[in-house]
Amino acid sequence: MTPVRDSDRRVAVLGAGLAGLRAATELNRLGYAVRVYEARTEVGGRARGEWCAGHWMDSAWPVLGGRDIVLAGWARDVGLSDLLSPLRPVQTMLLRRGETTSVEGLNLRGAARIPGPRFWERAKLLRWGRLMGRYASRLDASCPERAADLDYRSIRDHVSLYFGRGALEFWLAPEIQGVYGDSVEDLSRVAMLIHAKSIGIGERRPGLPGLPRRPLLELAQSAAEGLEIRRGTAVARVDELPAGGFNVETIDADGIRDPEPFEAVVVALGPGEASRVTSSLLTPAERDFFRDVREQPVVNLSIALEGVHAGLPQEIRIPQREGSAISSIVIEPGQPGGRAPEGKSQLVVRARDAFADRWRDIAGDVLSKNVLSSLELAMPGIGERVLTTHLGRGSQPFFEVGSYRRLANFQRVQLDRRDLGRKLYWAGDYLSGPSFESAARSGLRAAQALVTDLADV
Ligand SMILES: Cc1cc2nc3c(=O)[nH]c(=O)nc-3n(C[C@H](O)[C@H](O)[C@H](O)COP(=O)(O)OP(=O)(O)OC[C@H]3O[C@@H](n4cnc5c(N)ncnc54)[C@H](O)[C@@H]3O)c2cc1C
Repeated sequence: MTPVRDSDRRVAVLGAGLAGLRAATELNRLGYAVRVYEARTEVGGRARGEWCAGHWMDSAWPVLGGRDIVLAGWARDVGLSDLLSPLRPVQTMLLRRGETTSVEGLNLRGAARIPGPRFWERAKLLRWGRLMGRYASRLDASCPERAADLDYRSIRDHVSLYFGRGALEFWLAPEIQGVYGDSVEDLSRVAMLIHAKSIGIGERRPGLPGLPRRPLLELAQSAAEGLEIRRGTAVARVDELPAGGFNVETIDADGIRDPEPFEAVVVALGPGEASRVTSSLLTPAERDFFRDVREQPVVNLSIALEGVHAGLPQEIRIPQREGSAISSIVIEPGQPGGRAPEGKSQLVVRARDAFADRWRDIAGDVLSKNVLSSLELAMPGIGERVLTTHLGRGSQPFFEVGSYRRLANFQRVQLDRRDLGRKLYWAGDYLSGPSFESAARSGLRAAQALVTDLADV
């Protein structure tokens, strides 16, 4: 009998966002015959943006963590080492009552100096090391469900109990808001603990935040170059074939349906779409899981600015009690070959979650004007320098208390199905965390599970 070579094993990856592309690059590297289906004509999913007058206008918040090792490793693998290593350093600032101060919330000395918390709350920061030591072994950014047994308390309750409310409002909520948004009170403490560990809060060498040197989308585009991708082809449904494997039915831009058989499928779509196209394959427990995934709206406005900002790029955080519709602003001075041209600057403004939620049905131009007027209040005179804007609007998963227990249950079902021979895998930020790094991690994890299963056959 001729042995099955990996290149004979046809694998479909559904979705060319970062999760799907990371899975597909890994499978391709290991010699599998991978085909990616992407409904849009462009790859990158929610990492996309556009060039306007020499400025890269992000749809997403651009600040990355200095320990985003999966993204950095992937960039190296596709020949883009200089994109993320090193990141362009970002100075963190706090805007209160019209004054900005530099803050360093990643180390405990710096955290104790952040204005806002009461004296006794600052003293309690000494507890941080002991607490993190207690939980660290369960905090794994690639397998977040390992911390499911800690998932019975919100970040509000956890931080209030150990450090006081001030520590949440002025220190930890701002530290995690770039990824989880600013209305984090009901977020599971597991999300905060995993994030704190992954950026190294309180450690001797935390992962300092920074900006990619060029658009992150370049990573997706470079990864895509080596892959077989059907663009503009939406997956309509996936069904099991009687002889094993799956039939993936797609619809192209002309409405033509095309069925294709595959031995294994990685579903790297958002949770709603993932459950819709695989509905004939889901167990009741999986259906329940997808039904309960919570998402929240996100609004970012990228702004190209006339004139240059001196110094380092800055992330300016605005505490909730300032009453602004904006939670954070990134100011990025231009540089040759960078995301903004030399002699100009750009801003990315993240709206407060409550604002994004309240205005979720409003037209984009009205929303942009609202964000711009809030920006003018926070940074008087900035309006005169605006060259053009780009609105990034979308949704991201929210990990409230209970999410990680549901995730653990979902992953148990996956082990069970895989034992029974089902070769269907899931990837996406709703399984790991609402960030580029987490999306890439989930793609890698799905690819590794698939490789393990096919190696056993
Ligand atoms: C406004 C906004 C701001 C954000 N800011 C940040 C940030 O600052 N930092 C950060 O790290 N993360 C941020 N994120 C989150 C980050 O963008 C996501 O976590 C990550 O990009 C998700 O990747 P994914 O591959 O899981 O999903 P997606 O990027 O959504 O990829 C899914 C892909 O599947 C395709 N697709 C959908 N349906 C079908 C179908 N039927 N057939 C074929 N293809 C289909 C889609 O077109 C898409 O390309 C932000 C997200 C949003 C919306």
